[in-house]
Amino acid sequence: MKYYSLNKSAPSVSFKEATIKGLAPDKGLYFPEIIPAQPAAFFKDIQNYSNEEIAFRIIEPYIADEIPNEILKQIVTETINFDIPLKPVSDNVFSLELYHGPTLAFKDIGARFMSRCLGYFVKNNDKKVTVLVATSGDTGGAVANGFFNVDGVEVVILYPSGKVSSVQEKQLVTLGNNISAIEINGNFDDCQQLVKRAFADKQLNESLFLTSANSINVARWLPQQFYYLFAWKQWIDKNTPPVICVPSGNFGNICAGILAYASGLPVQHFIAACNSNKVIPDFLSTQIYQPKKAVATISNAMDVGDPSNFVRILELFHHKFHSLAKMLSSVSISDEETRTTISQVYNEHKYLLDPHGAVGYFALKNYLKIHPDNKGYFLETAHPVKFFDVVEPVIHEQIPIPESVRNILGKEKLSISMEPDYEDLKAFLLNK
Ligand SMILES: *Cc1c(COP(=O)(O)O)cnc(C)c1O
Repeated sequence: MKYYSLNKSAPSVSFKEATIKGLAPDKGLYFPEIIPAQPAAFFKDIQNYSNEEIAFRIIEPYIADEIPNEILKQIVTETINFDIPLKPVSDNVFSLELYHGPTLAFKDIGARFMSRCLGYFVKNNDKKVTVLVATSGDTGGAVANGFFNVDGVEVVILYPSGKVSSVQEKQLVTLGNNISAIEINGNFDDCQQLVKRAFADKQLNESLFLTSANSINVARWLPQQFYYLFAWKQWIDKNTPPVICVPSGNFGNICAGILAYASGLPVQHFIAACNSNKVIPDFLSTQIYQPKKAVATISNAMDVGDPSNFVRILELFHHKFHSLAKMLSSVSISDEETRTTISQVYNEHKYLLDPHGAVGYFALKNYLKIHPDNKGYFLETAHPVKFFDVVEPVIHEQIPIPESVRNILGKEKLSISMEPDYEDLKAFLLNK
């Protein structure tokens, strides 16, 4: 499979090159030249396949002979070796729980897949690869965990000071070894700007082999299709395809769902549920894309003012606004609505949501009020304990802390602080 740059001024590349480069030289996101179609029979008979078979079948055309099948099967198996259940919450709403992985968030899937692909590709390199990532919360932990002790790979993570939860922070600042965490005195967009400048810096890229592990990387984006298929496998009423609601920030997760839909996955409608960062809800009502400075919310992994992956969604709909608007809605949910939802769903259904999942639940419920014949699921993108600082005061109860979290809470913080100054970052990277 070849991947072209969405800015159309860089050569097409292989999966390996797209994974290593992250972003194209013209700063465009890579996009596959062909969207592989899966036959209707595959979706109809999906119960007959194991999760490993489903995942392998979906990802194989994107990689073809660049990774031998046996190794790719192994990578897929390791990527998905935890539960991804679809659980009923209320009569017409289900929760796709994506938080049973090592860092308790959906980003484990993409990070685990990518780290293993990159590990394979750099195995015989003499030059070290440096993975540079900006995180608004969960990416950092997932990437740090996925890449921890992968040979030949250094990881540098930038995160906004004071804007990630304490559990999130601990997950990325306590590993050490090949993982460096930098606490930036700014917001997520500042972090992302620094990363973008580093990738565009010719001189830096001559001295270092830099790559990204943000959701723009194809090796993180593509495997996120897996769990939409697993949800379909668990979906009972196959005659009524689900409305799928995805709590969205950088729009990589929902974009993977739309990609699976483009390959034939039955879907009634997509909802991108946003917090107060509502560039896409505004775009869908005005047709004007106006990036904004991110504002801080209690669903901080979605505090994004210029969602990178949205261009891929436009490409999937061939830049036709009306076909896009028919298949995708987007709404903005306030912190107040988010808190009320956590409380109500806990009291009425004994189901504990994290703030991101709550944004999704609320948006889906509202949609189903207007479309009462439909049913749907939302993606529960993180375990509520990751956001206990928000959730506990709302439910007036303590959330039991899982063993894995308790272990890291007492560990020493190994991060270093930095102003959002590109020259400082560059000096750090060159001295690593
Ligand atoms: C990253 C993240 C999101 C947003 O996902 P995108 O792919 O950036 O849209 C939502 N919820 C949680 C918990 C996250 O970590």
